[in-house]
Amino acid sequence: MTAPDPSLVSTDPVLIPLFAEKGIRASVLRLDKIHPVISGNKFFKLHFYLEEAKQTGKDHIITYGGAWSNHIVATAAACKLNGFRSTGIIRGEEPAVLSATLKDALDYGMKLEFLSREDFTTRKRAYLSPSGSSYIIPEGGYGLHGARGAATILQYVPDISNYTHICCAAGTGTMTAGLLSASDRIQKIVSVSVLKNNQQLDTDIRSLSGDANKPALISHDHHFGGYAKHTAALLSFMNDFFRQTTIPSDIVYTGKLFYAILDMVKKDQFVPGSKFLLIHSGGLQGNRSLNKGTLIF
Ligand SMILES: *Cc1c(COP(=O)(O)O)cnc(C)c1O
Repeated sequence: MTAPDPSLVSTDPVLIPLFAEKGIRASVLRLDKIHPVISGNKFFKLHFYLEEAKQTGKDHIITYGGAWSNHIVATAAACKLNGFRSTGIIRGEEPAVLSATLKDALDYGMKLEFLSREDFTTRKRAYLSPSGSSYIIPEGGYGLHGARGAATILQYVPDISNYTHICCAAGTGTMTAGLLSASDRIQKIVSVSVLKNNQQLDTDIRSLSGDANKPALISHDHHFGGYAKHTAALLSFMNDFFRQTTIPSDIVYTGKLFYAILDMVKKDQFVPGSKFLLIHSGGLQGNRSLNKGTLIF
Protein backbone atom coordinates (compact mmCIF):
# COMPACT_ATOMS: atom_id res chain seq x y z
CA MET A 1 0.00 0.00 0.00
CA THR A 2 1.43 3.39 -0.86
CA ALA A 3 2.08 5.71 2.07
CA PRO A 4 -0.45 8.44 2.89
CA ASP A 5 0.18 11.82 1.32
CA PRO A 6 1.88 13.88 4.07
CA SER A 7 0.26 17.07 2.80
CA LEU A 8 -3.12 15.74 3.99
CA VAL A 9 -1.91 15.40 7.58
CA SER A 10 -1.92 18.48 9.79
CA THR A 11 -1.07 19.11 13.43
CA ASP A 12 -3.80 21.40 14.73
CA PRO A 13 -3.25 23.30 17.99
CA VAL A 14 -5.85 22.77 20.72
CA LEU A 15 -6.47 26.24 22.10
CA ILE A 16 -8.75 25.81 25.10
CA PRO A 17 -8.81 27.76 28.37
CA LEU A 18 -8.14 24.67 30.51
CA PHE A 19 -4.80 23.99 28.85
CA ALA A 20 -3.74 27.65 29.06
CA GLU A 21 -4.67 27.70 32.75
CA LYS A 22 -2.60 24.58 33.47
CA GLY A 23 0.40 25.53 31.35
CA ILE A 24 -0.18 22.71 28.87
CA ARG A 25 0.25 22.96 25.12
CA ALA A 26 -1.37 20.40 22.84
CA SER A 27 -1.81 19.64 19.16
CA VAL A 28 -3.87 17.01 17.41
CA LEU A 29 -2.26 14.92 14.67
CA ARG A 30 -5.08 14.72 12.14
CA LEU A 31 -4.72 11.21 10.74
CA ASP A 32 -8.49 11.29 10.22
CA LYS A 33 -7.79 13.38 7.13
CA ILE A 34 -5.56 10.96 5.19
CA HIS A 35 -8.31 8.91 3.54
CA PRO A 36 -12.09 9.07 3.81
CA VAL A 37 -12.40 5.33 4.55
CA ILE A 38 -8.97 3.85 5.37
CA SER A 39 -8.78 6.54 7.97
CA GLY A 40 -6.43 7.16 10.82
CA ASN A 41 -4.32 4.40 12.21
CA LYS A 42 -5.81 1.64 10.05
CA PHE A 43 -3.91 2.83 7.00
CA PHE A 44 -0.68 2.38 8.94
CA LYS A 45 -1.65 -0.83 10.70
CA LEU A 46 -2.68 -2.63 7.51
CA HIS A 47 0.43 -1.72 5.53
CA PHE A 48 2.81 -4.54 6.47
CA TYR A 49 0.08 -7.19 6.54
CA LEU A 50 -0.79 -6.41 2.93
CA GLU A 51 2.90 -6.27 2.02
CA GLU A 52 3.42 -9.74 3.42
CA ALA A 53 0.32 -11.05 1.67
CA LYS A 54 1.62 -9.69 -1.63
CA GLN A 55 5.12 -11.04 -1.09
CA THR A 56 3.86 -14.52 -0.27
CA GLY A 57 1.65 -14.60 -3.34
CA LYS A 58 -1.74 -14.46 -1.59
CA ASP A 59 -4.64 -12.81 -3.35
CA HIS A 60 -7.37 -13.13 -0.72
CA ILE A 61 -7.50 -11.37 2.64
CA ILE A 62 -9.66 -12.65 5.49
CA THR A 63 -10.28 -10.62 8.62
CA TYR A 64 -12.75 -10.13 11.49
CA GLY A 65 -14.80 -7.46 13.18
CA GLY A 66 -18.14 -6.08 14.32
CA ALA A 67 -20.91 -4.32 12.41
CA TRP A 68 -19.42 -0.82 12.84
CA SER A 69 -15.78 -1.85 12.64
CA ASN A 70 -13.30 0.71 11.31
CA HIS A 71 -10.95 -2.19 10.67
CA ILE A 72 -13.44 -4.08 8.48
CA VAL A 73 -14.27 -1.18 6.20
CA ALA A 74 -10.63 -0.01 6.04
CA THR A 75 -9.52 -3.52 5.08
CA ALA A 76 -12.23 -3.75 2.42
CA ALA A 77 -11.14 -0.44 0.88
CA ALA A 78 -7.42 -1.22 1.15
CA CYS A 79 -7.96 -4.62 -0.53
CA LYS A 80 -9.84 -3.05 -3.39
CA LEU A 81 -7.10 -0.45 -3.80
CA ASN A 82 -4.40 -3.11 -3.83
CA GLY A 83 -6.09 -5.77 -5.92
CA PHE A 84 -6.94 -8.33 -3.23
CA ARG A 85 -10.20 -10.23 -2.80
CA SER A 86 -11.47 -9.85 0.75
CA THR A 87 -13.74 -11.64 3.20
CA GLY A 88 -14.98 -10.15 6.46
CA ILE A 89 -16.11 -12.51 9.21
CA ILE A 90 -18.65 -10.43 11.12
CA ARG A 91 -19.59 -10.83 14.79
CA GLY A 92 -23.34 -11.46 15.23
CA GLU A 93 -26.21 -12.83 13.14
CA GLU A 94 -26.86 -11.23 9.79
CA PRO A 95 -29.22 -8.32 10.46
CA ALA A 96 -32.25 -7.49 8.30
CA VAL A 97 -30.68 -4.13 7.52
CA LEU A 98 -26.91 -3.88 7.22
CA SER A 99 -25.02 -1.14 9.07
CA ALA A 100 -23.66 1.73 6.95
CA THR A 101 -20.18 0.35 7.64
CA LEU A 102 -20.98 -3.11 6.30
CA LYS A 103 -22.77 -1.65 3.28
CA ASP A 104 -19.60 0.26 2.48
CA ALA A 105 -17.51 -2.89 2.93
CA LEU A 106 -19.80 -4.72 0.47
CA ASP A 107 -19.46 -1.84 -1.98
CA TYR A 108 -15.70 -2.27 -1.82
CA GLY A 109 -16.20 -5.88 -2.85
CA MET A 110 -15.76 -7.55 0.52
CA LYS A 111 -17.64 -10.81 0.99
CA LEU A 112 -19.34 -10.90 4.38
CA GLU A 113 -19.91 -13.98 6.52
CA PHE A 114 -21.83 -13.68 9.77
CA LEU A 115 -21.12 -15.72 12.88
CA SER A 116 -23.28 -15.65 15.99
CA ARG A 117 -21.54 -14.00 18.93
CA GLU A 118 -20.91 -17.39 20.48
CA ASP A 119 -19.48 -18.89 17.31
CA PHE A 120 -17.41 -15.80 16.74
CA THR A 121 -15.71 -16.34 20.08
CA THR A 122 -15.36 -20.10 19.94
CA ARG A 123 -15.42 -21.20 16.30
CA LYS A 124 -13.72 -18.29 14.60
CA ARG A 125 -10.61 -20.42 14.59
CA ALA A 126 -12.23 -22.77 12.14
CA TYR A 127 -11.55 -20.06 9.60
CA LEU A 128 -7.90 -20.00 10.51
CA SER A 129 -7.01 -22.82 8.16
CA PRO A 130 -7.91 -21.20 4.88
CA SER A 131 -6.84 -22.30 1.44
CA GLY A 132 -3.34 -21.59 0.18
CA SER A 133 -4.25 -18.33 -1.49
CA SER A 134 -5.68 -16.68 1.64
CA TYR A 135 -3.97 -14.44 4.16
CA ILE A 136 -5.43 -13.73 7.59
CA ILE A 137 -5.23 -10.36 9.27
CA PRO A 138 -6.05 -10.65 12.99
CA GLU A 139 -9.10 -8.83 14.34
CA GLY A 140 -8.42 -5.10 14.65
CA GLY A 141 -5.05 -5.53 12.92
CA TYR A 142 -3.63 -6.72 16.23
CA GLY A 143 -0.06 -7.94 16.01
CA LEU A 144 3.56 -7.17 15.20
CA HIS A 145 2.97 -6.08 11.60
CA GLY A 146 0.32 -3.69 12.85
CA ALA A 147 2.66 -2.23 15.45
CA ARG A 148 5.44 -1.89 12.88
CA GLY A 149 3.06 0.07 10.67
CA ALA A 150 1.87 2.27 13.51
CA ALA A 151 5.48 3.08 14.37
CA THR A 152 5.71 4.99 11.06
CA ILE A 153 2.95 7.40 12.15
CA LEU A 154 5.43 9.71 13.87
CA GLN A 155 7.24 10.32 10.57
CA TYR A 156 4.32 12.61 9.79
CA VAL A 157 5.20 14.98 12.61
CA PRO A 158 8.03 17.30 11.55
CA ASP A 159 8.88 18.58 15.05
CA ILE A 160 8.22 15.37 16.95
CA SER A 161 11.05 15.87 19.47
CA ASN A 162 9.30 19.00 20.81
CA TYR A 163 6.55 16.92 22.39
CA THR A 164 6.83 15.58 25.91
CA HIS A 165 3.77 13.31 25.66
CA ILE A 166 2.24 11.34 22.80
CA CYS A 167 -1.36 10.41 23.57
CA CYS A 168 -3.59 7.89 21.83
CA ALA A 169 -6.63 5.67 22.29
CA ALA A 170 -6.15 1.92 22.65
CA GLY A 171 -8.32 -0.95 21.51
CA THR A 172 -5.95 -3.86 20.98
CA GLY A 173 -2.98 -1.68 21.99
CA THR A 174 -1.22 -2.27 18.67
CA MET A 175 -0.98 1.44 17.80
CA THR A 176 0.22 2.27 21.32
CA ALA A 177 2.94 -0.37 20.99
CA GLY A 178 4.08 1.04 17.65
CA LEU A 179 4.22 4.57 19.01
CA LEU A 180 6.08 3.34 22.06
CA SER A 181 8.72 1.68 19.92
CA ALA A 182 9.10 4.79 17.72
CA SER A 183 9.17 7.39 20.49
CA ASP A 184 12.35 8.51 22.15
CA ARG A 185 13.12 7.72 25.74
CA ILE A 186 12.16 11.05 27.21
CA GLN A 187 8.74 11.09 25.62
CA LYS A 188 5.94 9.54 27.56
CA ILE A 189 3.21 7.60 25.80
CA VAL A 190 -0.24 8.12 27.29
CA SER A 191 -2.70 5.48 26.15
CA VAL A 192 -6.40 5.46 26.94
CA SER A 193 -8.06 2.04 26.94
CA VAL A 194 -11.56 2.10 25.45
CA LEU A 195 -12.35 -1.35 26.85
CA LYS A 196 -13.51 -2.02 30.38
CA ASN A 197 -11.09 -3.99 32.56
CA ASN A 198 -8.82 -5.09 29.75
CA GLN A 199 -6.22 -6.68 32.02
CA GLN A 200 -4.35 -8.02 29.04
CA LEU A 201 -3.67 -4.59 27.51
CA ASP A 202 -0.53 -3.57 29.38
CA THR A 203 1.18 -6.91 28.66
CA ASP A 204 0.11 -6.82 25.01
CA ILE A 205 1.51 -3.32 24.56
CA ARG A 206 4.80 -4.29 26.17
CA SER A 207 5.25 -7.43 24.13
CA LEU A 208 4.31 -5.82 20.80
CA SER A 209 6.57 -2.81 21.38
CA GLY A 210 9.65 -4.88 22.05
CA ASP A 211 10.72 -2.55 24.84
CA ALA A 212 9.63 -3.08 28.41
CA ASN A 213 11.38 -0.06 29.84
CA LYS A 214 10.03 2.99 28.07
CA PRO A 215 7.67 5.15 30.06
CA ALA A 216 3.99 4.61 29.31
CA LEU A 217 0.91 5.67 31.19
CA ILE A 218 -2.12 3.52 30.46
CA SER A 219 -5.50 4.75 31.63
CA HIS A 220 -8.19 2.18 32.36
CA ASP A 221 -10.59 4.76 33.78
CA HIS A 222 -12.05 6.42 30.70
CA HIS A 223 -13.95 3.65 28.88
CA PHE A 224 -17.45 5.05 29.53
CA GLY A 225 -18.84 1.60 30.32
CA GLY A 226 -16.89 -0.43 27.77
CA TYR A 227 -16.12 -0.91 24.12
CA ALA A 228 -18.38 1.26 21.89
CA LYS A 229 -20.46 2.20 24.94
CA HIS A 230 -21.19 5.89 25.22
CA THR A 231 -23.05 8.19 27.54
CA ALA A 232 -24.85 11.52 27.16
CA ALA A 233 -21.89 13.11 28.95
CA LEU A 234 -19.47 11.79 26.34
CA LEU A 235 -21.62 12.98 23.44
CA SER A 236 -22.02 16.44 24.90
CA PHE A 237 -18.27 16.60 25.58
CA MET A 238 -17.59 15.71 21.92
CA ASN A 239 -19.90 18.49 20.76
CA ASP A 240 -18.28 21.00 23.15
CA PHE A 241 -14.81 19.98 22.05
CA PHE A 242 -15.83 20.49 18.44
CA ARG A 243 -17.31 23.91 19.19
CA GLN A 244 -14.08 25.01 20.83
CA THR A 245 -11.55 23.44 18.45
CA THR A 246 -13.43 22.51 15.22
CA ILE A 247 -11.95 19.03 15.66
CA PRO A 248 -14.48 16.19 15.27
CA SER A 249 -14.06 12.95 17.23
CA ASP A 250 -15.64 9.49 17.24
CA ILE A 251 -17.65 7.78 19.97
CA VAL A 252 -15.50 4.65 20.22
CA TYR A 253 -11.95 5.98 20.41
CA THR A 254 -11.00 9.60 19.94
CA GLY A 255 -13.91 11.10 21.90
CA LYS A 256 -12.78 9.06 24.91
CA LEU A 257 -9.13 9.99 24.30
CA PHE A 258 -9.81 13.73 24.25
CA TYR A 259 -12.08 13.45 27.27
CA ALA A 260 -9.47 11.47 29.19
CA ILE A 261 -6.65 13.90 28.50
CA LEU A 262 -8.73 16.89 29.58
CA ASP A 263 -9.79 15.00 32.69
CA MET A 264 -6.20 14.13 33.62
CA VAL A 265 -5.07 17.72 32.98
CA LYS A 266 -7.89 18.96 35.20
CA LYS A 267 -6.65 16.62 37.94
CA ASP A 268 -3.11 18.02 37.62
CA GLN A 269 -1.60 14.74 36.49
CA PHE A 270 0.89 16.51 34.20
CA VAL A 271 3.49 19.14 35.01
CA PRO A 272 3.07 22.64 33.56
CA GLY A 273 5.16 23.04 30.42
CA SER A 274 4.12 19.63 29.07
CA LYS A 275 3.49 19.53 25.34
CA PHE A 276 1.07 16.92 24.07
CA LEU A 277 0.65 15.34 20.69
CA LEU A 278 -2.84 13.83 20.58
CA ILE A 279 -3.22 11.23 17.85
CA HIS A 280 -6.50 11.56 15.98
CA SER A 281 -6.66 7.96 14.83
CA GLY A 282 -9.75 8.43 12.64
CA GLY A 283 -12.88 6.32 13.03
CA LEU A 284 -15.39 9.07 12.29
CA GLN A 285 -17.40 6.74 10.04
CA GLY A 286 -18.55 4.85 13.16
CA ASN A 287 -20.54 7.89 14.31
CA ARG A 288 -23.12 6.86 11.71
CA SER A 289 -24.45 4.39 14.28
CA LEU A 290 -25.93 7.39 16.17
CA ASN A 291 -29.28 9.02 15.46
CA LYS A 292 -28.95 11.95 13.09
CA GLY A 293 -28.43 15.25 14.89
CA THR A 294 -26.85 13.70 18.00
CA LEU A 295 -23.53 15.27 17.04
CA ILE A 296 -23.18 18.75 15.58
CA PHE A 297 -20.50 17.71 13.07
C1 LIG B 1 -8.68 0.72 15.64
C2 LIG B 1 -8.67 2.09 16.20
C3 LIG B 1 -7.95 2.42 17.38
C4 LIG B 1 -7.27 1.39 18.24
O1 LIG B 1 -6.09 0.91 17.75
P1 LIG B 1 -5.39 -0.33 18.46
O2 LIG B 1 -4.15 -0.48 17.69
O3 LIG B 1 -6.31 -1.51 18.28
O4 LIG B 1 -5.20 -0.02 19.88
C5 LIG B 1 -7.95 3.73 17.80
N1 LIG B 1 -8.63 4.67 17.13
C6 LIG B 1 -9.35 4.39 16.04
C7 LIG B 1 -10.12 5.47 15.40
C8 LIG B 1 -9.40 3.09 15.53
O5 LIG B 1 -10.13 2.83 14.44
